[in-house]
Amino acid sequence: MRKLLALVLSVMPLLACGEKPRVKEFDGPSAFRYLETQVAFGPRVPGTEPHRRMDAWLDSLLRRRADTLIVQRWNHVTAKGDTLPMVNFLARYQPAAEKRILLLAHWDSRPHADGPNSRDSTLPVPGANDGGSGVALLLGVTDVLERTPPTVGVDLLFVDGEDYGDFTGTPQDVLIGSRYYGAHQPPGPAPIYAVLFDLIADKELQIYQEGNSLVGAPEVVSLVWDTAKDLGLAGTFISSPRHTLIDDHLELQKAGIRAIDVVDFDYQFWHTPDDTVDKVSAQSLQVVGDLAVALIRREGTT
Ligand SMILES: [Zn+2]
Repeated sequence: MRKLLALVLSVMPLLACGEKPRVKEFDGPSAFRYLETQVAFGPRVPGTEPHRRMDAWLDSLLRRRADTLIVQRWNHVTAKGDTLPMVNFLARYQPAAEKRILLLAHWDSRPHADGPNSRDSTLPVPGANDGGSGVALLLGVTDVLERTPPTVGVDLLFVDGEDYGDFTGTPQDVLIGSRYYGAHQPPGPAPIYAVLFDLIADKELQIYQEGNSLVGAPEVVSLVWDTAKDLGLAGTFISSPRHTLIDDHLELQKAGIRAIDVVDFDYQFWHTPDDTVDKVSAQSLQVVGDLAVALIRREGTT
């Protein structure tokens, strides 16, 4: 892969006089390895050993890479009276910068595979796409920022407890980490906008605009889909609405942050025991990773 890229670069100037060759900063295959590592821990259900191991892994990895790491730890008492240990990680780059953007994903896995296509709702969700893909994308971004630091402030937020409880009726014991973050934001400049990445590695990736994003922060939806179009990704980022979802972006919106959801909700293995590594791809991570990096670089040049 690296060799091929070097060869292409050496030929490019001859082919395109004066045009800068576009180098991909985001490395989809290595981001995919972050996804595999998470799934190998087992379902990252709060209160279980895989959750503890993933907590330690994220902590050590982000501590080495971020300019500043903020770890939020607290206990959440569920409607049933169980006490769950919760952890949010906020990896900050250029922490003093006035102008900043926030990218986030949830890192927990759902304890019950109770989706419409599930064959066994007593099993937990392996979370290759649901949880695993968003985290893999953010970790891929940390590699990019390590090589070339951003000129704008970047906050990468890994929230816990998105998927623990019940989304039907009045949502209960879900979006726990994003709600906590909304109430406990670090002091200093707030992000100009936030993008949530969820379910973004489906092999058949198609990302439509999400309803609550269009209502809560339409200008951010336009910015993201325009950026995708500029990158030639209009085949994946489709400029029309489709689903309206309850997801972590709503808790950030409630806290005053212009937050949207980048999500492919047409995933037949959603909340099933079959949300496994063979259903997702490095190529899809590459597409969304290119978009995420373009958002960061774009704010750094204006
Ligand atoms: Zn989920």
